[in-house]
Amino acid sequence: MIDLTKSKAAFEEAKKYMPGGVNSPVRSYPHMGCPPPFIQEAHGSHITDIDGNTYIDYVGSWGPMVLGHAHPAVIKAIQKAAERSTSYGAPTVMETEIAELIHQVYPSIEKMRMVNSGTEATMSALRAARGYTGRDKILKFEGCYHGHGDSLLVKAGSGAATFGSPDSAGVTKGTAKDTLVVPYNDIPAFTKMMDEKGDEIAAVIVEPVAGNMCCVPPVEGFLEALRKETEKHGTVLIFDEVMCGFRTTFHGAQARYHIHPDMTCLGKIIGGGLPAAAYGGRREIMNCIAPDGSVYQAGTLSGNPLAVTAGIETLKQMMAIPDFDKILEKKTKDLLTGWKQAADKAGVPLVCHQSGSMFGIFFSEKDVLNYHDACSANAAQFKAWFLSMLNQHIYLAPSPFETLFMSYAHSDEDIEKTIQAADKAMEEAA
Ligand code: PLP
Repeated sequence: MIDLTKSKAAFEEAKKYMPGGVNSPVRSYPHMGCPPPFIQEAHGSHITDIDGNTYIDYVGSWGPMVLGHAHPAVIKAIQKAAERSTSYGAPTVMETEIAELIHQVYPSIEKMRMVNSGTEATMSALRAARGYTGRDKILKFEGCYHGHGDSLLVKAGSGAATFGSPDSAGVTKGTAKDTLVVPYNDIPAFTKMMDEKGDEIAAVIVEPVAGNMCCVPPVEGFLEALRKETEKHGTVLIFDEVMCGFRTTFHGAQARYHIHPDMTCLGKIIGGGLPAAAYGGRREIMNCIAPDGSVYQAGTLSGNPLAVTAGIETLKQMMAIPDFDKILEKKTKDLLTGWKQAADKAGVPLVCHQSGSMFGIFFSEKDVLNYHDACSANAAQFKAWFLSMLNQHIYLAPSPFETLFMSYAHSDEDIEKTIQAADKAMEEAA
């Protein structure tokens, strides 16, 4: 076992002052049987804890670090921006610059608002859809996570699922009743619900590539059905691309599957590792937002100059590298090919999923298409695999419901080392 003595002590101290000793639940390494490494610093594809262990990192701060950690150009841009002040709470030209950049990459986002987190983006998009349609109900899919807004913490995957409580205490029955839920990738169940309730539903919100029941891409025809039914009923279709944005392809899942949603939520990468997210979409919907319209939404730190600077620099760096997304997709494919071979050698049934630079594995004999399938995967094998990889200095998400991320900084050597570690980890999981 790697030495986590200092992390263990830091964790005990943190627990005195923070629920679970952390500021976001999954960081506490629930059910993994070891303390979470407390992080000292990270550079490129590597992350180092306070015990001095350095790992190859496939968590990437849960998605934003697509260029790798502490990218020199991003850090320099942030430093320069910080010298001019850390917040103004007033308009800056860089906010228009990032909105233009995002519109260029996501043409369906005609107008947008910056916010500070993916949670705020989805909450605000839903409010806009409700204001625009005058309807109360929303529809989401089981196992999709859209942040921790009340109406979205119903059958949410990811962190909530890790703790065995996909619904949350503290969400009123009144709020929950306006959230309709159907299984992901289930076209008949979705169509039936739209037939019955479509005219009462303000918005259908979906992760077009689900990343919160590990990585589950849409089956053929699923997103098409969403588009067709929402158009038929005058319901706003919201793609939550907070995670899959810029990763499934640079232009998101909407480009890969050729479906144009009415609204899109982005986060993670557009803040370059600082807190930023955005929601936007069709002009006529966004015109409902105050001060142009009567849907209120605001933020003291929205469009924060450091976060916007980090986001612009990250996007520009990605755009400057031809085929950026394809390069990451190939690295991811190479890694998963190696993991699958390791599993086959050890006789471990393994399902590997990838969408661009998002990826995940399931210890399962059969393919995983929805949350129910994801829950049926072998949790004991996941734990053995996870601990073995950690001991071999490979930093993975400590939950079978979380997706992993490749960055541009991951070298062929990193990938080779990770595959070698998988050989041993699969044997230990067998
Ligand atoms: N939407 C999706 C698809 C996410 O994966 C997440 C977080 O992981 C969110 C929304 C919430 O974003 P945040 O954690 O920034 O509030």
